[in-house]
Amino acid sequence: MNTIWARCKEVLRTKVNEHTMTTWFEPIICEDVSEDRVVLSVPNNFFIHWIKDNYIKLFRESLIEATGKALEPDFRSRDDFACDDTSPIAEKQCEEMLESLSMTDEFALKRNLNPRYTFESFVVGACNQFAHAAALSVTENLGKSYNPLFLYGGVGLGKTHLMSAVGYAVLSKQKTKKVSFSTSEEFTNEMINAIRYDRMVEFRNKYRNVDLLLIDDIQFIAGKERTQEEFFHTFNAIYEARKQIVITSDRFPNDISEMEHRLKSRFGWGLVADMGVPDLETKVAILKRKAFEDAVELPDDVAYFLAEQVESNIRELVGYFIRVIAMSTLQGIPLTRDLAQLALKEILHRHSKNITVEDIISVVSKAFNIKTSDIKSKKKHKLYSLPRQVGMYLGRELTELSYPDIGAAFGGKDHSTVIYACRKIEKKMEQDHSLKNLVEGLRKDIRG
Ligand code: ADP
Ligand code: MG
Repeated sequence: MNTIWARCKEVLRTKVNEHTMTTWFEPIICEDVSEDRVVLSVPNNFFIHWIKDNYIKLFRESLIEATGKALEPDFRSRDDFACDDTSPIAEKQCEEMLESLSMTDEFALKRNLNPRYTFESFVVGACNQFAHAAALSVTENLGKSYNPLFLYGGVGLGKTHLMSAVGYAVLSKQKTKKVSFSTSEEFTNEMINAIRYDRMVEFRNKYRNVDLLLIDDIQFIAGKERTQEEFFHTFNAIYEARKQIVITSDRFPNDISEMEHRLKSRFGWGLVADMGVPDLETKVAILKRKAFEDAVELPDDVAYFLAEQVESNIRELVGYFIRVIAMSTLQGIPLTRDLAQLALKEILHRHSKNITVEDIISVVSKAFNIKTSDIKSKKKHKLYSLPRQVGMYLGRELTELSYPDIGAAFGGKDHSTVIYACRKIEKKMEQDHSLKNLVEGLRKDIRG
């Protein structure tokens, strides 16, 4: 029963963003499974309405994908499980939730946009000034100023935030505008499903008849020929209709390997803007902004302390901030630099611990129950080659070492062997969730 729901959740996770997942799907509990239905309990009636209005199709599809059977989801409020009367507390909760969702939030959620990612909450600094100006200009002249707008930059530098802000700004000016926001992975998954269930016409209608198409992390379609082909036609249709396209990527168009040339060239047709690494002042300003949003007092010395701990990744910075605030509120301790230091002690310690390939080899071989000498050997049996490839993949991810260095540490393998291993594990994890979970567990163990 729970495995069915767990599998279904895995499928759902590939189709919606994290925000939707935590808000709407994580709170669901599977209560019962029969021949043709799955009884799912949700916190209250409001959830039922919301899910039925917005996600019912997605649920049916995901259940089919997860189980191979057309199971009908049957949503029940947990209050109904507890007692038959509608509890006044639950009623109140519903009302509060409804109130907290303004109309725009409702629109935004439907489109997977995070309501917190707006222009207002976006702090402009030297690192993102250009991208910010371009994004603003796009919202004012949809399809006319820069098309496409291509935003690129490293992890956690605000690409998704800025792109969502464009969607949000357009919607808040004109609710009737058709805005589509998806990650390139969602685009891929929807396309695969459309092919599988013979619904390409709907798929194309959905993606081509929009005023604004936002595609996050386009680099993930690298190496996927069929997706690139479809995206190429989507792009052309929107472009020719003079509608707007905004794309984000972790790198410059020409640097995306295994991406068709015609796509790379189109990415450069409009404006390519980079989102750089924030300086100390920008990081502090971002923290101050977050504190303002959460209505907490953030002393300057604490803000500077936090900003100094993070090199570039703003997501990490925000994470530290949340941790420190949580500690202060939960324990009722005033927010000081000492407290911040205490709250981050563990994390900072872990960061300072340099992970070596030897650490990785030791954890991986233990997990697969083989000898470290076997992982480093030339033995080709799957029993050894899979752990070896996983180890190489993790080596690439968790250390700063180059492919040849990693190859050397794995008993003198060629750099091309390491590249092959990394690609293979990456691909395999896309299809095999148990491998993905395994790698995630190993990663945690290695980080200690
Ligand atoms: P990316 O998509 O580039 O990996 P995100 O857009 O997800 O990064 O941003 C990560 C986190 O940092 C989010 O919480 C976002 O709100 C925050 N953030 C990034 N840049 C800014 C900024 N300039 N102003 C305010 N918050 C920011
Ligand atoms: Mg992002």
